[in-house]
Amino acid sequence: VAPASTVHLDDRFARELPEMAVSWQAEEAPRPQLLVLNEALAAELGLDAGWLRTPDGVGLLTGTVVPEGAHPVAQAYAGHQFGGYSPRLGDGRALLLGELTDATGRLRDLHLKGSGRTPFARGGADGLAVVGPMLREYVISEAMHAFGIPTTRSLAVVATGRPVRRETLLPGAVLARVADSHLRVGSFQYARATGDVDLLRRLADHAIARHHPHAADADNPYLALFEAVVAAQGGLVAQWMLVGFVHGVMNTDNTTISGETIDYGPCAFLDGFDPATVYSSIDHGGRYAYGNQPVVAQWNLARFAETLLPLLDDDQERAIALAVEALGGFATAYNAAWSAGMRAKLGLPEGLDGEVADGLVQELLGLMRESRVDLTSFLRRLGAAARGDAEPARLLVMDLAALDAWLERWRAVGPDADLMDRVNPVYTPRNHLVEEALTAATAGDLAPLQQLVEVVTRPFEERPGLERYTEPAPGGSGPYRTFC
Ligand code: AMP
Ligand code: MG
Ligand code: MG
Repeated sequence: VAPASTVHLDDRFARELPEMAVSWQAEEAPRPQLLVLNEALAAELGLDAGWLRTPDGVGLLTGTVVPEGAHPVAQAYAGHQFGGYSPRLGDGRALLLGELTDATGRLRDLHLKGSGRTPFARGGADGLAVVGPMLREYVISEAMHAFGIPTTRSLAVVATGRPVRRETLLPGAVLARVADSHLRVGSFQYARATGDVDLLRRLADHAIARHHPHAADADNPYLALFEAVVAAQGGLVAQWMLVGFVHGVMNTDNTTISGETIDYGPCAFLDGFDPATVYSSIDHGGRYAYGNQPVVAQWNLARFAETLLPLLDDDQERAIALAVEALGGFATAYNAAWSAGMRAKLGLPEGLDGEVADGLVQELLGLMRESRVDLTSFLRRLGAAARGDAEPARLLVMDLAALDAWLERWRAVGPDADLMDRVNPVYTPRNHLVEEALTAATAGDLAPLQQLVEVVTRPFEERPGLERYTEPAPGGSGPYRTFC
């Protein structure tokens, strides 16, 4: 059994950016109980899963046992929330335990959410988290990873034994989260607002070293950093769109510099294909609707660009011109990733004429919107249609004449059904299944959650006996709402 002292956690963020780190410690967990542990991720991180299950290991996962040499900190950041600027957000209920070097030599943040109030907690915020939402983050982030979408990962959820007051009393929990880093657009907004250009430069250098090292060799490294983040975010949001992911709270403090998806608060997957879909109970204006996500990401990147202006050029007019031009790279990256993704989803052959391909994609999107089809089921069933059985797909569409005409044109280009099955998931974390699993887990039954994790982390592999995981929400369950 490895003692906590053999876990080596660096404190690179705290060392290089002390102005943005407040030393802090986690609150005690009165009766910690490990609810779920990601053994594959633990192995990737060089952590022994057996040891993580011991009291010492669970102590690491709740922040109550701090390995020798580690310096947990709460990170400072600012951010635009629903378009309104907050100069001081920061980790109100989270801690960066430190950075681990994983089995491949990559530096990974080990971070806790729900570990108690920090100096960044605002108003009556309690610094805590509850079992349901932390398990939601666990299952959805791991599903996103299985889809091949860049994301923070979930290492474990530990119930603390502390009741937490929400609408009712709910069981408290801490999530242990892993990320390439927790740097956000909001981190740069914070640094920029201090007026300390040296801090801003150190932050940018830290980001380049950790995420976009090639930028260091560019003529203008900070412009290259911006371009790299723009490209990463463009690719990321395209991938969200391709699986029907609605993030729900795309504030600038939830937009990473690494290009990982972060903060699984009010997120959900489309139940029916409609760009205007909003699930979050607090998104009254639909700012973060499914179809708005690319525009919002670009808006967030414009806020990022503003923070970098002092580093881009001494001449601020020229800095703005450089930033505006680079921001145009978002559409390029987004469109490339989205088109390539849609073409693969429809099994279109490599050499197919671009206009023919775009026509097929656009026309199908129109049909999907019109029938509010279940995106996951419909695309998967198109694989069967490519093999000759169009009936399952036809069941989901209202305008059958239009669909049949489309199918005929599509079949004529020779769609590759095997390619389609590799990129169209059978299983997604459907909202009603997630809710069912979280409700059971909150009441003490972890079996539905374990089963759901097992299903959605092998999303492309159709298995017998799992039919209910492919079905839409039972009718009459009403529109789905999510809460932060
Ligand atoms: P989010 O909307 O989840 O991105 O969080 C926005 C801000 O609220 C961050 O600064 C969080 O640390 C803070 N926050 C959210 N929930 C809590 C809580 N229960 N206690 C303290 N701070 C919180
Ligand atoms: Mg957040
Ligand atoms: Mg959140």
